[in-house]
Amino acid sequence: MAAFIDKVKIKIVSGRGGNGAVAWRREKFVDKGGPAGGDGGRGGNIYFVADENMSTLLDFTYKSVYRAEDGENGRNKNCHGKDGKDVFLKMPVGVVVRDLKTNKIIADLNEHEKTILVAKGGRGGRGNARFATAQKRAPQFCEPGEAPVERELELELRLIADIGLLGMPNAGKSSFISKVSSARPKIADYPFTTLVPNLGVVKKPTGDGFVIADIPGIIEGAHQGVGLGFEFLKHVQRCRFLIHVVDISNENAVENYHTINNELKKYSEDLSSLYQVILLNKTDILDSDYVNNMIEKFREFNSDVFAISCATGDGVSEILNHLYKKIDEIPHPENPLVIEYDEGFDDNDDSSFTVVKLNKNTFLTDGGKIRRLASVTDTRNLQQMRRLANILDSMGVYQELKKMGLKENDTILVAHIETTYLGDYQ
Ligand code: GDP
Ligand code: MG
Repeated sequence: MAAFIDKVKIKIVSGRGGNGAVAWRREKFVDKGGPAGGDGGRGGNIYFVADENMSTLLDFTYKSVYRAEDGENGRNKNCHGKDGKDVFLKMPVGVVVRDLKTNKIIADLNEHEKTILVAKGGRGGRGNARFATAQKRAPQFCEPGEAPVERELELELRLIADIGLLGMPNAGKSSFISKVSSARPKIADYPFTTLVPNLGVVKKPTGDGFVIADIPGIIEGAHQGVGLGFEFLKHVQRCRFLIHVVDISNENAVENYHTINNELKKYSEDLSSLYQVILLNKTDILDSDYVNNMIEKFREFNSDVFAISCATGDGVSEILNHLYKKIDEIPHPENPLVIEYDEGFDDNDDSSFTVVKLNKNTFLTDGGKIRRLASVTDTRNLQQMRRLANILDSMGVYQELKKMGLKENDTILVAHIETTYLGDYQ
């Protein structure tokens, strides 16, 4: 799904082959020795290696050119130049590699430890010793090393979430993702929609990254199709554990927490049996006694409770330290978690859609056709987003939403795609 694709461009340059040498034997009492120029060494190769311990392409956004070592030139006394060292670049499992010149896919790193040669080092040139023949005993020439291979490549990865974020609308899930992500897949600036981040890549102090993803739509009735979910849920099918974000400035905080957990159980016993951390949010607008009370209260349900403010950043480093530890402790489930989902739509009337007002500024539209459209829409592609908007318009979706009070800058969830309505741009 579009919003969950991570892409980077890199350039790779293999090693140049070392030049052959022109040299002569020099021996005592021998006036003119034979040719003794050694061969140049081979330039280093570049390999991509799939590694299940990596989950993002974050590393490749910091460095964009990768080179292997050149081969050494040949030397006298028939000495070969040393081969250049090969480079093995680790990639997350699931990376697809495209050559940008030909636009062809050249590698699919779909299995742990799969290793693919993507740029071969140049061959070393032969020294003059290799060119000696009976007729030509003293060749004055040698071969230069072969040129390196340069390629511009695009790495594309469908991100698999490590952590799923649960919570009522407005709990602060998007805010939390923004707060802790050091990078996220590029989200373009569209004329009619800005996407609230629903996916974040968090960089660990050790350098590698992990992925957290919003699980929207776990609201009352969501499992019956009033809500989004399935496309999104597919991406949390392999998540290691969950963070449950609770807005404790809301008077129904405790009730909301139980509602979400009950809904989750209906979606998936598997998901609901995962380890959960509770994150009590919005401490900045609450007094500390109240916050401490809430921490005590929630500790009755779950031992791991953290209180934070996404607004001020208070408590964020504590929860992050906890997440780093848990990511190392808890593996991805071996088999995808089973997630039951009732589409709730009548196949015969595919273009019918539902509109739901989730809260004052948030609306949802969903339906068989809408869901299919959303699942094939790349949210970073302007034309595709325009097309989606035009189709929604012609289906009468905006009209229906306006009847329910849709205003400029309100959020519309189009199945799983979160958009901001900027008025009648069309
Ligand atoms: P989501 O629906 O769970 O993704 O929630 P959002 O991240 O979109 O946040 C909902 C609203 O709560 C937004 O207006 C945020 O600015 C606000 N918000 C989020 N975190 C905090 C916080 O720590 N303190 C305060 N005061 N407001 C917050
Ligand atoms: Mg959100």
